[in-house]
Amino acid sequence: GRGRSPSRTAENIKVFLRVRPFNEREVKEGAKPTFVCDYRENVVMLTKPPEKRAGNDTDRSLFTLDHIFPPNSTQLDVYRLAAAPLVEQIFEGYNATIFAYGQTGTGKTFTMTGNDKDPELKGIIPNTFIHIFQKIANSTEDRSFVVKVMYLEIYNEEVRDLLGKDPNKQLQIRERQDIGIYVKDLTGYTVEDGETMHQLMERGNKNRITRATNMNDYSSRSHAVFTIVVETRHKERNQTTTGKLNLVDLAGSERVAKTGVIGIGLRESGNINQSLLTLGNVIQALVENSNFIPYRNSKLTRLLTDSIGGNSKTTMIAMVGPAESNFEETISTLRYAHKAK
Ligand code: ADP
Ligand code: MG
Repeated sequence: GRGRSPSRTAENIKVFLRVRPFNEREVKEGAKPTFVCDYRENVVMLTKPPEKRAGNDTDRSLFTLDHIFPPNSTQLDVYRLAAAPLVEQIFEGYNATIFAYGQTGTGKTFTMTGNDKDPELKGIIPNTFIHIFQKIANSTEDRSFVVKVMYLEIYNEEVRDLLGKDPNKQLQIRERQDIGIYVKDLTGYTVEDGETMHQLMERGNKNRITRATNMNDYSSRSHAVFTIVVETRHKERNQTTTGKLNLVDLAGSERVAKTGVIGIGLRESGNINQSLLTLGNVIQALVENSNFIPYRNSKLTRLLTDSIGGNSKTTMIAMVGPAESNFEETISTLRYAHKAK
């Protein structure tokens, strides 16, 4: 059942901030930072750029997070603190979700997938494969495991299989008494090693890239959800526990920032990403211990109903760029992240 006590829910939702280093262009332009961080207290102090200030306004805002990753933190630092504990949890039968949130260009894909050319730049998803199969290899004889993966994306509230025969086919979300919410006809692969899992991830990513080059704005407006299901069979007890981990590279939050409607409610607008908006509302409702959680208001939250809230572990990694030119998007991301605290 779903635990409803506020402390439990709050404990199960963690919010991290990752600060991207200044990129080459920003360095060349002599960009100034728009915030400073207190890494011991996990507080960010944001200052509005002088040219945007009105009157004698100081325009400073403070935000506290569960942890802040500085620009020089490594992919493994992020993995160890933000992801590894959730992988341990799925072996105990919990569901878990990791979201990468932020405006386009802040490092969502870098954090989730990383750079394949350099083993040190592997992101959370490939590090998860290694962790899972290491755990299985080191486990005691009285257990056996079945590992399955699925990879889908949501664009404009349409669900597509990134590993299916026809990546253009739109899939439907269904619900059944015995198994709960599922995606009809979504391809699931049973895998026995990390290498196979890695190949599946790459295949899915290629499908994403192909669409991105054919359609305007695709990559910044679609959500990619990589799901790993681990079934642990306890031979002697003749019992199985199942845990599910969802690794989500969210659409860019820039439109949400511009319209400023996060947390307000549903709006009819082609420019607002329904799933991103609803995710914010779902997390806010959970943190406030509301008795109505609007899971059904978007495809993403409906799909993840059993993996956000209740006993499930949810981690949001909010990504920000350091430059003053991104002040609006950065403050919007921090407000979104803060709401989840
Ligand atoms: P997003 O997916 O949020 O649009 P990307 O992950 O594509 O952003 O990152 C944009 C660019 O910034 C990429 O070239 C990426 O390699 C680089 N980048 C992002 N985060 C970092 C980081 N923490 N360290 C080094 N480079 C980064
Ligand atoms: Mg990306």
